[in-house]
Amino acid sequence: MRVTVAGAGIVGLSCAYRLAEAGHDVTVVAAAPPRESTSAVAGGVVYPPGDRLDERIVRWTAASLAVFRGHDTPGVRFRRGRVLLAAAEPDPQWLPAVDDATRDGDRVEFTTAVVDTPVYLEWLLARVGALGVRVEYRSLTSLRGLGADVVVNAAGLGAGALAGDATMVPVGGQVVHVTDPGLSEFVVDETGPGVTYVIPHGGHVVCGGTEEPGRGDTDPNPAVTADILRRCRELEPRLADAEVLRSLVGLRPFRREVRLERVGDVVHCYGHGGAGITLAWGCAADVTELVTA
Ligand SMILES: Cc1cc2nc3c(=O)[nH]c(=O)nc-3n(C[C@H](O)[C@H](O)[C@H](O)COP(=O)(O)OP(=O)(O)OC[C@H]3O[C@@H](n4cnc5c(N)ncnc54)[C@H](O)[C@@H]3O)c2cc1C
Repeated sequence: MRVTVAGAGIVGLSCAYRLAEAGHDVTVVAAAPPRESTSAVAGGVVYPPGDRLDERIVRWTAASLAVFRGHDTPGVRFRRGRVLLAAAEPDPQWLPAVDDATRDGDRVEFTTAVVDTPVYLEWLLARVGALGVRVEYRSLTSLRGLGADVVVNAAGLGAGALAGDATMVPVGGQVVHVTDPGLSEFVVDETGPGVTYVIPHGGHVVCGGTEEPGRGDTDPNPAVTADILRRCRELEPRLADAEVLRSLVGLRPFRREVRLERVGDVVHCYGHGGAGITLAWGCAADVTELVTA
């Protein structure tokens, strides 16, 4: 079958990979290369934020982890780390999806994939190319007239406009990359009014973050950079002398829930919010089933 995938972020490329592997003739059409997508800004920890769980989220997370475990892939490391929760908060529902999770008071410790997304996306782009997928860079204004039997709408924030879905909201997130003093564990603090995280990738550490619903620009704010550094150095004192490399902003494609369904000859797969790195492989498997059905 001829399939066009709109979008070359982590969701579009993962779908293209699975579809090509299943024998489809796949073209990816994207407004910009993967390195310019929101996916390339992500912190890259594979676990779903606890605020928007349904049965699919746990299943997709577990499926993605199984894929990351099965590939020896540039940019992907398995690391132990901890998520800090308010002590009175019940165990998060995503616990069964991750490995060896233990809870001690406010700390949930587990091992998961930590993805250096710019490196990983380049690998994924090369892999889909090797599977015969064509990639074209242009902005779509419609999902019609693409000469495909089925179109997969995986255009992240752009997917809402393409689907006529007004419920998509950009949620801005700023991060700061600093030099890595040799950290081996990630830490995410969910106890504050916002989330603070420290995610080591070997050469650099991603420090975050912010959640800014409705944000439209991607210009880093220096005052926010300073605040992120203060919070992260408090959480991980070994970052005290780490050198700042860059600040980045990404716009999360947020929707009340992920839309993954087939409507006629379009399969929609968008609205992954702050969890697209976590969910992409699980969603790609479901998309491939819906295309092939
Ligand atoms: C600061 C920050 C930290 C994050 N941390 C994590 C994390 O630790 N773990 C996690 O799981 N997730 C994290 N996320 C969320 C994750 O980055 C997103 O959920 C994910 O990138 C969404 O992927 P996507 O492929 O749907 O969209 P995108 O990466 O935005 O890709 C969309 C693609 O569609 C293309 N496109 C858009 N409109 C059009 C159009 N009209 N025509 C053609 N192409 C179009 C774009 O060019 C792009 O190629 C984070 C996000 C941010 C901002």
